[in-house]
Order: sequence, then structure tokens, then C-alpha cells
Amino acid sequence: MPAVIMDGKALGLKIRENLRLKCAQLDVVPSLAVILAGEDPASLSYVTAKEKALDEAGMKSHDIRLPENVNEDVLLSTINDINNNEKIHGILVQLPLPKHINEERVISAIDPKKDVDCFHPVSAGKMFLGSGGFLPCTPHGVLCLLREYNIPVSGSHVVIVGRSNIVGKPLANLLIRREFNATITVCHTGTHDITGFTKQADILIAAAGMPALIKKDMIKENAVVIDVGVNRVSDNSAKKGYRLCGDVDPDVAGKASFLTPVPGGVGPMTIAMLLQNVLEAAMLSKE
Ligand code: NAP
Repeated sequence: MPAVIMDGKALGLKIRENLRLKCAQLDVVPSLAVILAGEDPASLSYVTAKEKALDEAGMKSHDIRLPENVNEDVLLSTINDINNNEKIHGILVQLPLPKHINEERVISAIDPKKDVDCFHPVSAGKMFLGSGGFLPCTPHGVLCLLREYNIPVSGSHVVIVGRSNIVGKPLANLLIRREFNATITVCHTGTHDITGFTKQADILIAAAGMPALIKKDMIKENAVVIDVGVNRVSDNSAKKGYRLCGDVDPDVAGKASFLTPVPGGVGPMTIAMLLQNVLEAAMLSKE
């Protein structure tokens, strides 16, 4: 039987509609500053999608567009101004930043109370310790999808391919919490014989940024496969000259029990979780 396709688009919309209803009852408009430095087309399309979703949920986005050659001090002082602006509850700095900017310094300048992406060392530390704060959007989106489809996580072996600070590491950290109770293996480019690990996975999460890295013969029968990857591959038959594809070969659908599509799987869940964090930040600002 072909895999059940996990519809992140539908679930994301359902969550966003709930957030819209909650938002309508607040006496404050949750607001997010969205900072984009440069004109990377992929970043621009992510930022546009996030701003549209905020607007539809009754939240406000403050567009801050800076040139590619922006001075780091200008960026830092922009963040400082927003930190001190009570009307803005969250700050999102779209990554990657231009090469001459020190990403770590910029992220560390964000007030952790407004760090809705959960990239600040204080946010990451709190998440690591399980001591409150925001949850990172993409990992949280993956957890919501697993819950929605009643995938048993407790006691399962989850194999994650990728160890980035925004996906692989936080996912591993969240999934070993007692409430999820999974056993985790994290693979990366230093892993010998990746297939030896991926084949053991009850739940396989691909977050490598490599088109179709995970093939059918790399998974076990009936595995749950979550594809976080979003890759642009050139395609002359497509209007834009490229198409999006994940890190998982679509053939995997013939062997997996559940599979997330790309697009329409984890991506829309990331946006829904961002909106949830912005709402939470707005509520926190009133305490
Ligand atoms: P990243 O920072 O580039 O990290 C990629 C990770 O994958 C690294 O740990 C790397 O290993 C590992 N890796 C790369 N190629 C590999 C291979 N052939 N075998 C084993 N491991 C390999 O990427 P990221 O930011 O985590 O993003 C990963 C993918 O998810 C990208 O396609 C990105 O666009 C997508 N993404 C999607 C969403 C969403 O909302 N859907 C959100 C964030 C990211 P090393 O550490 O050894 O280099």
C-alpha cells in the first residue's frame, strides 16, 4: 500500500485559523518585525509567505528590508530599536545573512523574549533544558505532524539525517524529552554507512538539503518518513525554470507507511508554528 501523505498544508491552515480566532479576542495585535538583508530570491519568497500568513491571522508584520551590503552595526542597531519597541513582540531575521555579517552576533542581539525563531543561545539553552520559552518552528512543526497522524513516537527509533542548529539538533533534543521518549540517532557527513542507520529507523527525518538523498532501499518497510528538505532543482519545463524537491526520493512512498510531501509537508507547519510563537510573544509582553 502506498504511504499516507501527511498533509502539512491542511494542518498548517487549521492551526492558523485557530490562531486567527484567538488573535481576534486579544486586546493587542501580535506583531513581528521581519528583517531581510539582501535579495536572495528564496529568502524573499519565504519572507513573503510568512508575512501573508501573519496578515491572514490578524497579526501585523513590520517589513524591514536592508541592502545586501548593509553594515553590521546598522543591522545590530535596527535590532536594538525593535527590542525596545513595545508594540513589536517578535523579531525574525531571515537567514542566511550576507557573508560579511556575523550571524551569531546578530542573533545574539535579539531580546530572547522576542526570539520567536528560538535561535538565540538563551532560547536554545532553555529548550535544551526543557525550561520553557519558545519552541523552534520547524522541529515543532514536525512534532505536530507526528501527533496529528497518531504516529507512535514513544519507544521508537528516530533517525535524523542532518545536525544543523535549526533542524537536526533541536529535533534530536526535543524527541529525547520524556514526553516524546524516542531513541535518537543523528547522521551527518561524517557518518559511515548512512544506510545502515536509516534502515533501522521507525521514523526517518531527512534534513540534509540534498535532493533525493534518501532512496527507497535506504528505509525499512513501513517506516514513517519526514522530509524537511526544500531544494531548488533546475527544471526547464517549469515556469520559473526550477522546481522544489525534498531530500527524499518520491519512490519512497511505495515502501513507507507515512510520508510528508515537498512542498506541502513540513514547510507550511514551520509557518504555522512561527505564528503561534508570535501570538505567545504578544501574550508574554502583557505579563
Ligand atoms: P544545513 O545547515 O545545511 O545542514 C545540513 C545538515 O545535513 C548538516 O548537518 C550536514 O552534515 C548534513 N548533510 C548534508 N549532506 C549530507 C549527506 N549527503 N549525508 C549526511 N548528512 C548530510 O541545512 P538546514 O538548515 O538544516 O536545512 C536542511 C534542509 O531543510 C534544507 O533543504 C533546507 O532548505 C530545509 N529546511 C526546510 C525548512 C522547512 O520549513 N521546511 C526549514 C529549515 C530548513 P555536516 O554537519 O556534516 O555538514
